[in-house]
Amino acid sequence: RGAWRRQAVTVLGATGSIGTSTLDVIARHPERYRVHALTAHRSREPLLALCLVHRPAVAVLGDERDAAWLRARLAEAGVATEVESGPAALVAVAEAREVDVVMSAIVGAAGLLPTLAAVHAGKRVLLANKEALVMSGALFMEAVATSGATLLPIDSEHNAIYQCLPVEHRGGLARHGVTQLLLTASGGPFRGWSPERLAEVTPEQACAHPNWSMGRKISVDSATLMNKGLELIEACWLFDARPEQVQVVVHPQSVIHSMAAYSDGSVIAQLGNPDMRTPIAYGLAWPERIEAGVEALDLFRVARLDFEAPDEAAFPCLRLAREAMAAGGTAPAVLNAANEVAVEAFLAGRLGFTGIAELVARVRDAEPVQAVRDLETVLDADARARRAAVTRLANR
Ligand code: NAD
Ligand code: MG
Repeated sequence: RGAWRRQAVTVLGATGSIGTSTLDVIARHPERYRVHALTAHRSREPLLALCLVHRPAVAVLGDERDAAWLRARLAEAGVATEVESGPAALVAVAEAREVDVVMSAIVGAAGLLPTLAAVHAGKRVLLANKEALVMSGALFMEAVATSGATLLPIDSEHNAIYQCLPVEHRGGLARHGVTQLLLTASGGPFRGWSPERLAEVTPEQACAHPNWSMGRKISVDSATLMNKGLELIEACWLFDARPEQVQVVVHPQSVIHSMAAYSDGSVIAQLGNPDMRTPIAYGLAWPERIEAGVEALDLFRVARLDFEAPDEAAFPCLRLAREAMAAGGTAPAVLNAANEVAVEAFLAGRLGFTGIAELVARVRDAEPVQAVRDLETVLDADARARRAAVTRLANR
């Protein structure tokens, strides 16, 4: 790949919080990147606006009616973007020959198949969609190893850890003198709240995160600490760590994005303002560095860094996730599926905030853990856990 050629990028989930931040970074470097494809689920108007600016070769929407609408608007505007729809089109733009880089920023299990397609096609995969890795960890990492794909974590904590580890860190942490990964957590908007107060939390409160602006699903996950639980599982797969090698550290300022502790007593941290354009730019340009539009960190304004242990009694999702990783097999896929159903029900006003962890625990208790042989096992476990969660919601 000559340096003269611009890298072609597909952005899966282009209209979301990560997708638009990615396009913001890309637009700062037109000499390095061009947009091959942009995808969204139902947000046809935001996708139209992005297509008018970035002029991708292909745009993908969830259903054909929205796709027809977008096709008509783009034709009127004289833009030659091809418009497709449905899950097969997502896979096609992820594995297309002309694509170099795939940003995986669809939220939830819907991102699994296109992300795996990008991995199998040997792309540079920028992974924001943590649910995909949580569901299919072993298969996913095996596919990365055999396809020669370059996997770069975009989740800020994992991107930080990646930056704190030696360039070559395969084969387990111990081999590289790493004793522990310190996964920082803001603690969410309800840090220090009593269980009684938590029971009354509304979707609006849960979606107002103090440090990060994010999509609604991950905002709720951050508030329950399920996000940190999913990230713990994500860290185990990405860095070949055991759950007990990952320590969650509540750090309310969100300035240290995570750390690696070494056997000689060194602890290496990555710091920065909480802005996802930093990990996105890192993933796009690695091993080089490019400007990301992020304000320089002013330590005098930060003034102090605080740390505390997470409250697992008030936020049981963290424990549920650690137990799922320890149980192995399909347990993380079941955890993720039950959580997706629970969060959707909470956002729709059909389940209380503390009901999310309760529902996940009940589905977990009812679903047997199976060994993962292939993708079918994972997709089956996901579907069964969703059905079990929906049934339990209805029968409360
Ligand atoms: P978001 O809700 O803002 O955007 C989600 C995107 O996915 C949108 O473009 C939407 O159209 C698309 N989408 C939704 N459902 C889909 C479906 N069924 N099929 C196809 N496309 C679909 O979410 P976000 O905050 O940008 O998060 C995206 C992913 O990145 C999540 O997995 C999240 O956990 C992860 N992540 C986000 C942040 C953040 O700061 N926002 C940080 C770390 C990791
Ligand atoms: Mg994160």
